[in-house]
Amino acid sequence: MVLPDSNLYNLHSHTQFCDGRASMQLMAEAAAEAGMELYGFSPHSPISVESPCNMSRHDVPVYLDEARRITDFYEGRMQVLTGMEIDFLSPDWGPHIDYFQQLPLDYSIGSVHFVPTRDGIPVDCDGRFERFARNLHDVYNDDLRYVVEKYFEQVLTMIERGGFDILGHFDKIAANAAKADSNIEHTGWYNALIEDVINHAASAGLIVEINTKSYNDTQRFFPAIQWWSALLHSGSPIVINSDAHYPDKVNAGRPEALRILEQLRSGSVPSVQI
Ligand SMILES: [Zn+2]
Ligand SMILES: [Zn+2]
Repeated sequence: MVLPDSNLYNLHSHTQFCDGRASMQLMAEAAAEAGMELYGFSPHSPISVESPCNMSRHDVPVYLDEARRITDFYEGRMQVLTGMEIDFLSPDWGPHIDYFQQLPLDYSIGSVHFVPTRDGIPVDCDGRFERFARNLHDVYNDDLRYVVEKYFEQVLTMIERGGFDILGHFDKIAANAAKADSNIEHTGWYNALIEDVINHAASAGLIVEINTKSYNDTQRFFPAIQWWSALLHSGSPIVINSDAHYPDKVNAGRPEALRILEQLRSGSVPSVQI
Protein backbone atom coordinates (compact mmCIF):
# COMPACT_ATOMS: atom_id res chain seq x y z
CA MET A 1 0.00 0.00 0.00
CA VAL A 2 1.02 3.63 -0.43
CA LEU A 3 2.10 5.35 2.76
CA PRO A 4 0.30 8.51 3.92
CA ASP A 5 2.13 11.61 2.71
CA SER A 6 1.02 13.79 5.62
CA ASN A 7 0.24 13.21 9.30
CA LEU A 8 -3.47 13.83 8.74
CA TYR A 9 -4.57 10.23 8.59
CA ASN A 10 -5.84 7.26 10.55
CA LEU A 11 -5.84 3.77 9.10
CA HIS A 12 -7.24 1.77 12.01
CA SER A 13 -10.87 2.21 13.01
CA HIS A 14 -13.91 0.17 13.95
CA THR A 15 -17.62 0.66 13.36
CA GLN A 16 -20.92 -1.05 13.93
CA PHE A 17 -19.75 -3.88 11.69
CA CYS A 18 -17.68 -5.24 14.58
CA ASP A 19 -17.22 -3.83 18.08
CA GLY A 20 -17.15 -0.14 17.10
CA ARG A 21 -19.77 2.12 18.63
CA ALA A 22 -20.88 4.17 15.62
CA SER A 23 -21.78 3.86 11.96
CA MET A 24 -19.17 4.15 9.23
CA GLN A 25 -20.80 7.40 8.15
CA LEU A 26 -20.41 8.95 11.63
CA MET A 27 -16.79 7.80 11.92
CA ALA A 28 -15.98 9.27 8.49
CA GLU A 29 -17.71 12.55 9.40
CA ALA A 30 -15.63 12.78 12.59
CA ALA A 31 -12.45 12.11 10.61
CA ALA A 32 -13.30 14.80 8.06
CA GLU A 33 -14.09 17.25 10.86
CA ALA A 34 -10.73 16.44 12.47
CA GLY A 35 -9.11 17.55 9.21
CA MET A 36 -7.96 14.13 8.06
CA GLU A 37 -6.87 13.71 4.47
CA LEU A 38 -6.82 9.93 4.62
CA TYR A 39 -9.08 7.63 6.62
CA GLY A 40 -9.22 3.85 6.64
CA PHE A 41 -11.89 1.49 7.90
CA SER A 42 -10.56 -1.71 9.45
CA PRO A 43 -13.32 -3.87 10.95
CA HIS A 44 -12.29 -6.96 12.88
CA SER A 45 -12.31 -9.71 10.28
CA PRO A 46 -14.58 -12.73 10.32
CA ILE A 47 -12.94 -15.58 12.23
CA SER A 48 -13.40 -19.30 12.49
CA VAL A 49 -14.45 -19.26 16.16
CA GLU A 50 -17.33 -17.61 17.95
CA SER A 51 -16.46 -13.98 18.80
CA PRO A 52 -18.78 -11.05 19.56
CA CYS A 53 -16.03 -8.57 18.57
CA ASN A 54 -15.58 -9.81 15.00
CA MET A 55 -17.75 -9.12 11.96
CA SER A 56 -19.62 -11.99 10.41
CA ARG A 57 -18.72 -13.31 6.98
CA HIS A 58 -22.28 -12.59 5.96
CA ASP A 59 -21.74 -8.84 6.62
CA VAL A 60 -18.59 -8.50 4.52
CA PRO A 61 -20.36 -7.66 1.22
CA VAL A 62 -22.56 -5.12 3.07
CA TYR A 63 -19.44 -3.56 4.60
CA LEU A 64 -17.72 -3.39 1.22
CA ASP A 65 -20.77 -1.67 -0.34
CA GLU A 66 -21.00 0.90 2.44
CA ALA A 67 -17.25 1.58 2.25
CA ARG A 68 -17.55 2.20 -1.50
CA ARG A 69 -20.47 4.57 -0.94
CA ILE A 70 -18.55 6.59 1.66
CA THR A 71 -15.39 6.61 -0.45
CA ASP A 72 -17.39 8.17 -3.30
CA PHE A 73 -19.14 10.59 -0.95
CA TYR A 74 -15.81 12.04 0.27
CA GLU A 75 -14.06 12.01 -3.09
CA GLY A 76 -11.94 15.13 -3.51
CA ARG A 77 -12.21 16.01 0.19
CA MET A 78 -10.82 13.01 2.06
CA GLN A 79 -9.42 9.78 0.73
CA VAL A 80 -11.26 6.84 2.28
CA LEU A 81 -9.74 3.36 2.20
CA THR A 82 -11.44 0.02 2.65
CA GLY A 83 -9.37 -2.11 4.97
CA MET A 84 -9.73 -4.90 7.46
CA GLU A 85 -8.01 -5.85 10.71
CA ILE A 86 -7.50 -9.53 10.10
CA ASP A 87 -7.04 -11.89 13.02
CA PHE A 88 -4.34 -14.51 12.89
CA LEU A 89 -5.51 -17.65 14.69
CA SER A 90 -3.32 -20.35 13.18
CA PRO A 91 -1.76 -21.32 9.85
CA ASP A 92 -5.35 -22.26 8.88
CA TRP A 93 -6.80 -18.82 9.60
CA GLY A 94 -5.03 -15.54 9.02
CA PRO A 95 -4.47 -12.75 6.50
CA HIS A 96 -2.69 -15.16 4.14
CA ILE A 97 -5.66 -17.49 3.48
CA ASP A 98 -7.48 -17.40 0.15
CA TYR A 99 -10.68 -15.99 1.63
CA PHE A 100 -8.96 -12.73 2.67
CA GLN A 101 -6.65 -12.60 -0.31
CA GLN A 102 -9.58 -12.49 -2.71
CA LEU A 103 -11.45 -9.68 -0.90
CA PRO A 104 -11.29 -6.33 -2.74
CA LEU A 105 -9.54 -4.48 0.10
CA ASP A 106 -7.27 -1.44 -0.28
CA TYR A 107 -5.12 -2.72 2.58
CA SER A 108 -5.15 -4.98 5.58
CA ILE A 109 -3.81 -4.95 9.12
CA GLY A 110 -2.57 -8.23 10.58
CA SER A 111 -3.23 -8.52 14.32
CA VAL A 112 -3.10 -11.14 17.04
CA HIS A 113 -5.75 -11.03 19.76
CA PHE A 114 -6.18 -14.76 20.36
CA VAL A 115 -3.61 -17.02 22.01
CA PRO A 116 -4.10 -20.77 21.63
CA THR A 117 -4.14 -22.92 24.74
CA ARG A 118 -1.84 -25.95 24.94
CA ASP A 119 -4.74 -27.86 23.34
CA GLY A 120 -4.82 -25.41 20.43
CA ILE A 121 -8.04 -23.65 21.41
CA PRO A 122 -7.87 -19.92 20.55
CA VAL A 123 -8.73 -17.70 23.52
CA ASP A 124 -9.18 -13.93 23.26
CA CYS A 125 -6.43 -12.36 25.39
CA ASP A 126 -7.29 -8.78 24.40
CA GLY A 127 -9.73 -6.62 26.31
CA ARG A 128 -10.43 -6.39 30.01
CA PHE A 129 -7.80 -7.55 32.49
CA GLU A 130 -10.39 -9.28 34.69
CA ARG A 131 -11.22 -11.67 31.87
CA PHE A 132 -7.53 -12.15 31.03
CA ALA A 133 -6.72 -12.93 34.68
CA ARG A 134 -9.55 -15.45 34.82
CA ASN A 135 -8.39 -17.15 31.64
CA LEU A 136 -4.78 -17.10 32.81
CA HIS A 137 -5.83 -19.13 35.80
CA ASP A 138 -8.55 -21.30 34.27
CA VAL A 139 -7.21 -22.18 30.81
CA TYR A 140 -3.47 -21.42 30.87
CA ASN A 141 -2.72 -22.89 34.34
CA ASP A 142 -1.27 -19.55 35.53
CA ASP A 143 1.58 -19.86 33.05
CA LEU A 144 1.98 -16.22 32.02
CA ARG A 145 5.24 -16.85 30.21
CA TYR A 146 3.53 -19.47 28.05
CA VAL A 147 0.80 -16.97 27.08
CA VAL A 148 3.28 -14.23 26.23
CA GLU A 149 5.65 -16.49 24.31
CA LYS A 150 2.75 -18.06 22.43
CA TYR A 151 1.37 -14.62 21.59
CA PHE A 152 4.67 -13.55 20.02
CA GLU A 153 5.01 -16.92 18.30
CA GLN A 154 1.63 -16.18 16.69
CA VAL A 155 2.85 -12.72 15.63
CA LEU A 156 5.99 -14.21 14.10
CA THR A 157 4.07 -16.94 12.28
CA MET A 158 1.63 -14.34 10.96
CA ILE A 159 4.57 -12.29 9.64
CA GLU A 160 6.08 -15.38 8.06
CA ARG A 161 2.78 -16.26 6.31
CA GLY A 162 2.29 -12.65 5.18
CA GLY A 163 -0.65 -11.47 3.09
CA PHE A 164 -1.15 -8.14 4.91
CA ASP A 165 0.29 -4.61 4.81
CA ILE A 166 0.40 -3.26 8.36
CA LEU A 167 1.53 -5.09 11.49
CA GLY A 168 -1.08 -4.09 14.09
CA HIS A 169 -0.20 -3.27 17.74
CA PHE A 170 2.49 -5.94 17.87
CA ASP A 171 2.96 -6.00 21.68
CA LYS A 172 -0.73 -5.71 22.59
CA ILE A 173 -0.42 -8.65 24.99
CA ALA A 174 1.65 -6.33 27.23
CA ALA A 175 -1.51 -4.46 28.21
CA ASN A 176 -2.67 -7.44 30.24
CA ALA A 177 0.61 -9.28 30.78
CA ALA A 178 2.23 -6.27 32.48
CA LYS A 179 -0.74 -6.05 34.83
CA ALA A 180 -0.22 -9.70 35.78
CA ASP A 181 3.55 -9.16 36.18
CA SER A 182 4.82 -5.58 36.17
CA ASN A 183 8.40 -6.76 35.60
CA ILE A 184 7.70 -8.74 32.45
CA GLU A 185 8.83 -6.08 29.96
CA HIS A 186 12.17 -5.77 31.75
CA THR A 187 13.13 -9.42 31.29
CA GLY A 188 15.74 -10.56 28.80
CA TRP A 189 13.51 -13.18 27.20
CA TYR A 190 10.74 -10.62 26.60
CA ASN A 191 13.23 -8.19 25.06
CA ALA A 192 14.47 -10.92 22.75
CA LEU A 193 10.93 -11.61 21.55
CA ILE A 194 10.35 -7.94 20.77
CA GLU A 195 13.65 -7.75 18.93
CA ASP A 196 12.67 -10.80 16.88
CA VAL A 197 9.35 -9.26 15.88
CA ILE A 198 10.96 -5.93 14.91
CA ASN A 199 13.61 -7.68 12.81
CA HIS A 200 11.18 -10.03 11.09
CA ALA A 201 8.75 -7.20 10.32
CA ALA A 202 11.58 -5.25 8.70
CA SER A 203 12.75 -8.26 6.68
CA ALA A 204 9.19 -8.88 5.52
CA GLY A 205 8.86 -5.26 4.36
CA LEU A 206 5.86 -4.61 6.57
CA ILE A 207 4.56 -1.24 7.67
CA VAL A 208 4.55 -1.25 11.49
CA GLU A 209 1.77 0.39 13.45
CA ILE A 210 2.09 2.48 16.58
CA ASN A 211 -1.36 2.12 18.10
CA THR A 212 -2.57 4.99 20.30
CA LYS A 213 -5.93 3.55 21.38
CA SER A 214 -5.10 3.30 25.09
CA TYR A 215 -2.77 6.26 25.46
CA ASN A 216 -5.22 8.75 26.94
CA ASP A 217 -6.40 6.22 29.54
CA THR A 218 -3.20 4.36 30.39
CA GLN A 219 -0.31 6.36 28.87
CA ARG A 220 0.65 3.21 26.97
CA PHE A 221 1.23 2.90 23.24
CA PHE A 222 1.44 -0.38 21.33
CA PRO A 223 4.30 -0.99 20.85
CA ALA A 224 5.46 0.61 24.09
CA ILE A 225 7.74 3.65 23.78
CA GLN A 226 10.81 1.76 24.94
CA TRP A 227 10.84 -0.19 21.65
CA TRP A 228 10.49 2.81 19.33
CA SER A 229 14.22 3.47 18.93
CA ALA A 230 14.78 -0.11 17.80
CA LEU A 231 11.77 0.19 15.52
CA LEU A 232 13.12 3.35 13.93
CA HIS A 233 16.52 1.73 13.61
CA SER A 234 14.98 -1.28 11.81
CA GLY A 235 13.98 0.98 8.93
CA SER A 236 10.39 -0.27 8.77
CA PRO A 237 7.88 2.39 7.70
CA ILE A 238 5.74 3.42 10.67
CA VAL A 239 2.09 4.49 10.77
CA ILE A 240 0.39 5.96 13.82
CA ASN A 241 -3.21 4.82 14.21
CA SER A 242 -5.86 5.57 16.82
CA ASP A 243 -7.76 2.25 16.53
CA ALA A 244 -10.87 4.36 17.15
CA HIS A 245 -14.11 2.69 18.24
CA TYR A 246 -15.92 6.03 18.84
CA PRO A 247 -16.21 9.14 16.60
CA ASP A 248 -14.61 11.41 19.21
CA LYS A 249 -11.57 9.13 19.35
CA VAL A 250 -10.57 9.22 15.66
CA ASN A 251 -7.38 11.14 16.44
CA ALA A 252 -6.94 10.18 20.12
CA GLY A 253 -3.32 9.80 21.17
CA ARG A 254 -1.96 10.44 17.68
CA PRO A 255 -0.60 13.99 18.26
CA GLU A 256 1.31 12.78 21.34
CA ALA A 257 2.76 9.79 19.49
CA LEU A 258 3.71 11.93 16.50
CA ARG A 259 5.49 14.40 18.75
CA ILE A 260 7.47 11.71 20.61
CA LEU A 261 8.37 9.90 17.40
CA GLU A 262 9.54 13.15 15.84
CA GLN A 263 11.73 13.86 18.87
CA LEU A 264 13.27 10.39 18.65
CA ARG A 265 13.83 10.78 14.90
CA SER A 266 15.60 14.08 15.34
CA GLY A 267 17.64 12.73 18.25
CA SER A 268 16.44 15.52 20.54
CA VAL A 269 15.61 13.02 23.29
CA PRO A 270 17.78 10.07 24.26
CA SER A 271 16.23 6.71 23.37
CA VAL A 272 13.81 5.71 26.08
CA GLN A 273 14.71 2.67 28.14
CA ILE A 274 12.78 1.16 31.01
ZN1 LIG B 1 -6.66 -5.05 17.37
ZN1 LIG C 1 -8.50 -2.59 16.12
